Amino acid sequence: MAKTELRGSHGPAPDHVLTRWIGIENLARIGVYEKQGGYRSWKKAMTELEPAELTNEVKISGLRGRGGAGFPTGIKWGFLPPPDGGPRFVVVNADESEPGTAKDRYLMENNPHQLVEGILIACRAVSAQQAWIYIRGEYDLQHLAVQAAIDEARAAGYIGEKPYGVDFPVDIQLFRGHGAYICGEETALLESLEGKRAQPRSRPPFPAVKGAWGRPTLLNNVETLSTLPWIIEKGGAEYAKFGTEKSHGTRLFTVSGDVRKPGNYEMELGRPFRDLIEGMAGGARPGRKIKAWWPGGSSAPVLTGDLLDTPSDLEALAAAGSMGGSGGVIVADDTRCVVRMAYRLMQFYARESCGKCTPCRVGGNWAVRTYERVLSGHGTADDLALFDRVQSGLAAGRCLCGLGDAAGWVIQWTMARFREEYEEHCLRNECSVEGGGRAQPLPSTAASGDLPPPEGRKLAHA
Ligand code: SF4
Repeated sequence: MAKTELRGSHGPAPDHVLTRWIGIENLARIGVYEKQGGYRSWKKAMTELEPAELTNEVKISGLRGRGGAGFPTGIKWGFLPPPDGGPRFVVVNADESEPGTAKDRYLMENNPHQLVEGILIACRAVSAQQAWIYIRGEYDLQHLAVQAAIDEARAAGYIGEKPYGVDFPVDIQLFRGHGAYICGEETALLESLEGKRAQPRSRPPFPAVKGAWGRPTLLNNVETLSTLPWIIEKGGAEYAKFGTEKSHGTRLFTVSGDVRKPGNYEMELGRPFRDLIEGMAGGARPGRKIKAWWPGGSSAPVLTGDLLDTPSDLEALAAAGSMGGSGGVIVADDTRCVVRMAYRLMQFYARESCGKCTPCRVGGNWAVRTYERVLSGHGTADDLALFDRVQSGLAAGRCLCGLGDAAGWVIQWTMARFREEYEEHCLRNECSVEGGGRAQPLPSTAASGDLPPPEGRKLAHA
């Protein structure tokens, strides 16, 4: 594997951009946040820099979107057409629903003013006077924390008619998400925000040109926007000193699963995942070995345990056969059956399909039924071929959004990287991981409640 050069010229990596003040008592209160230097960047954005200079600073920083796609943030901002006198929006994707990912929740709960300040800076940069935070419906505590921060910022005059005396009326409002995974897909999110059923839109046109209510809209996620106060305070060039040549800065990772200290950890991009999983998160449980891990939420292709030295920058992950995705690192040790884990993921994707594309709507359910048959001890060689057919039907690019791709990757990459476990189940109806012999019957609670029961062998020849 090619070694990734870190660019940090500051001695030890900072690892504390987003989380630099987290841990200070009552940081969510505006007075405490201001005492650390909070809202200084907002003042700078209003009184010292022009909107184009703000965008330029972000371009120089090399910050890439932390929601999953990794697109350069400053370039995305530049896609909005020049103001035409009509409304323009900033929409914050706070609908964090990717399995294994809880870092936006952490940021909103612990430092909501940092997010509010980042949103205001983005509004100024793209000349948008209204921002919406689309927050996951289940995030009650975070909703309260962010709403309190907005109220405090409004009372302090940071949000309002004339922040710092500048004629730039700006407002932020919270919108509770509608409780489906697909609401986190940016165009489905816009549909939901407009009060419609959350289904992805065809693109082009992209939201930058025709977004919320048909108007130019900037969509960024919570972590991306929370990074802005640091960048505007210290300068884009400072931020660009951290990370690798193409993946600058730090990232907040959520580590979950079979590790001793699951949690959220900030790490400079380019450092190996071993530092995160075995160092910060404490590594595998005593006597256990890491067998599989998902580096970017469940939608990223799975990697094997011998790849923990993979650097955490986006390019190194792509070279290793996966992706940075949401930053949710899911770890599984050698007590886990990969086929059963793939089944649980497939249940999730089948249930969360919005139904708009046939491969996703139909393929996901077929895969679930096939997993149920195989895991119940009724697998055959035909099922291996059936898994292949379903995953090729779901292959990347055949569906309108990434959910279909992710569902296909669950089968494709667990099969490619743990083929022997599929063969055990399908050819010999055994599971050497869980049962030490015969595959175990599925507990009734594991069966997909809203799907008809498996139809035995009929499906294999359907
Ligand atoms: Fe809906 Fe699935 Fe198509 Fe995405 S891929 S638009 S979730 S049917």
